[in-house]
Order: sequence, then structure tokens, then C-alpha cells
Amino acid sequence: MDIKWTPSPNFTKGRNGKKIIAIVDHITAGYMPGCLNWLCNPRAKASAHYLVTRDGSIYQLVKDENTAWHAGNVKKPSWKLYDGSNPNYYTIGIEHEGFPHEGLTEAQYQASLMLHRFLVKRFEIPIDEEHIIGHHKIDGVRKANCPGPKFPWDRLFNDLGKGEEDVVRIKVLFDGREMDGFIKDGKAYVEVRKLCEALGLKVYWNEKEKKVEVSR
Ligand SMILES: [Zn+2]
Repeated sequence: MDIKWTPSPNFTKGRNGKKIIAIVDHITAGYMPGCLNWLCNPRAKASAHYLVTRDGSIYQLVKDENTAWHAGNVKKPSWKLYDGSNPNYYTIGIEHEGFPHEGLTEAQYQASLMLHRFLVKRFEIPIDEEHIIGHHKIDGVRKANCPGPKFPWDRLFNDLGKGEEDVVRIKVLFDGREMDGFIKDGKAYVEVRKLCEALGLKVYWNEKEKKVEVSR
């Protein structure tokens, strides 16, 4: 995962003795490069640990061990794990470039998914709706639309629950013909039909016996 380090001055050193327990997702309501510049501008008095852009790039603005200023104002919170103190101390903030009504791009989604996977593993964050939350759960008034109705919560929880794909994608070159394959548990796999047809063999799928039959 390629993360670009773009430090913001808007942070508090350390975590005030708190343990990181949750990820807070945001939408910038602005586009690059303005949104990145703003989060790094001392006048903003705001930041996030990460910013995921619409082209799928990931920027880190504040180190995980420090406190970013992304969810410090609490109004009508609906977050069950809010303990009465500043939520910035015990959360990681991820900003997403864009607006609440437009949703994430595919590249942006994939980058954000990777980043969530990485953080969930690193900080042992449970994959559920109290540990991976939208900003609106902390400020239900001014941030009711952060990250907004198009944020792909179902897909994100579904993909995070499945865990990392433990295969490596490879190309198999057979007599000059390229096929997609993968390596799993140290063995290389390729689609049997494509391989057999390249060999001039006939392939038949016997549904009843769940058997691939190859003949000349
Ligand atoms: Zn927000």
C-alpha cells in the first residue's frame, strides 16, 4: 500500500493516554488539491490521519500515534462507545475526497478498503458498526451528512468480514497465449478449460458427477 506522507500541523501529540478503539469515516465536501491543502492549513484547525482521493491515492497527514482533529465537536451523539471525552483521542480519522451525494469512485473504494484492513489489523479494531463509524454518529447536527447517504457501509463491512484474499494473481504464458492464474498455498492454478483448449483438447463438465472430463 502506497501512502504519501503530507504532514499537517493540525494535531495534538500523543493520545492523552487513550487506546485507539475506532475508525471514523468522513467526506471532505471538497475536491483535490483544495481539500488536502485545507487539512494542512493551520487556519483550518482541522485534519485527519488519512485522506483517500478519488483517483485512489492515500495521503497520511497525522501519524496514528498522534491525535488528529477530525471529530472533536460532539453534538447529539449516537455513538455507543463515546465516553464523554474528546473522541479524537481514541479514534483514527479517514477523510474521503468528494461530496456526500456522489459516493466513492471504485479506485477510491478499493484504496479505502485496503486502508481499513490495515488499520483494523494494526489496532485490533472489531469489524462492526460501533468500531467503524461515520462522523455523523459523533456530531449528529452539523455533520449529519458526513460521510453521507452514499457511503458504501454494507459493501465495506462485507468486504472487511471476508478478510484478505490469500491468493497471488499471476499470468501463465502457454505457447504465447496469456492466461490469468493465481498462486494459493504454493501451487499455481489456471482455468482448466483455457489450458485444455490451448492444448487442442475437448473439455466437458459433467454436472451430475461434478467432474471435468477431457478428451482428444
Ligand atoms: Zn466529517
